[in-house]
Amino acid sequence: MGTIAISGCATGIGAATRKRLEADGHRLIGVDIKDAEVIADLSTAEGRARASSEVLRHSAQQLDGVVLCAGLGGHIRDNARVLSVNYFGAVDLLDGLLPALRSGREPAAVVICSNSAQLSPEFGSLPVVAAMLAGDEDEARRIAADGLPGQLVYMASKHALGCAVRRRAAAWGEAGVRLNAVAPGPVRTPLLQGGLDTPGDGDMIRAFKVPIGRFGEPEEIANVVRFLLGPECAFVHGSIWYADGGADASLRPDRF
Ligand code: NAD
Repeated sequence: MGTIAISGCATGIGAATRKRLEADGHRLIGVDIKDAEVIADLSTAEGRARASSEVLRHSAQQLDGVVLCAGLGGHIRDNARVLSVNYFGAVDLLDGLLPALRSGREPAAVVICSNSAQLSPEFGSLPVVAAMLAGDEDEARRIAADGLPGQLVYMASKHALGCAVRRRAAAWGEAGVRLNAVAPGPVRTPLLQGGLDTPGDGDMIRAFKVPIGRFGEPEEIANVVRFLLGPECAFVHGSIWYADGGADASLRPDRF
């Protein structure tokens, strides 16, 4: 049994993952804007710094796992905030908590990305993605707030996040800490419901084809996170696991 920090644990995928891991006997340290051991706003650098230092305090600087679920949907009409939470709210915690993971037992981290992160081959050349990957939050927020569609900002933030996970594989492997991501398709959570209830965004989400014919449940993503954290996955590192009912495979069958 270990000590695991989890962001975005108040609702949806994070809440289901917390429940699943607690049922396995782990001790969870939650970080969220509400209903968590560590209350922090991950949209700001100060909030993220406080979240890291509070988690380190609660864990006595030793973590066996980190799960980063906090995120905002593209229907939220504050592009800069969506970008900051989805990208910087994950990478700053990853980097801030790595020293504590290095002291853990069979340590591993899992980040919740999205299958939308690869919906367009153009994402990799977007200036907003370059700014995120360069760590330039002010510039990334400026570009995102300057008329980009909200759903594009969401997908760009998840594209950059997937790159950030893969770019850390070499250093984290050497540090002895495994790092992977899950790329869910549509999952029935408050975030998805918010999108479905938003004019325009809702029609787009409803038109999204999922080969197995339904949306996912938060518990189904929690099971993948649990698997990736565990000893069965000791050789899995730097990977992005699609849990999307086959949507990515049907959209880009020959790219993997
Ligand atoms: P959700 O809205 O139920 O959960 C998001 C959590 O993040 C909540 O607990 C919320 O309080 C927290 N959060 C939001 N803003 C925050 C902030 N500023 N600081 C701290 N915490 C904050 O949504 P979900 O669907 O469970 O989303 C979890 C993750 O899964 C997100 O990263 C999301 O992008 C990703 N995802 C979801 C879907 C889906 O269809 N639901 C699909 C792909 C990826």
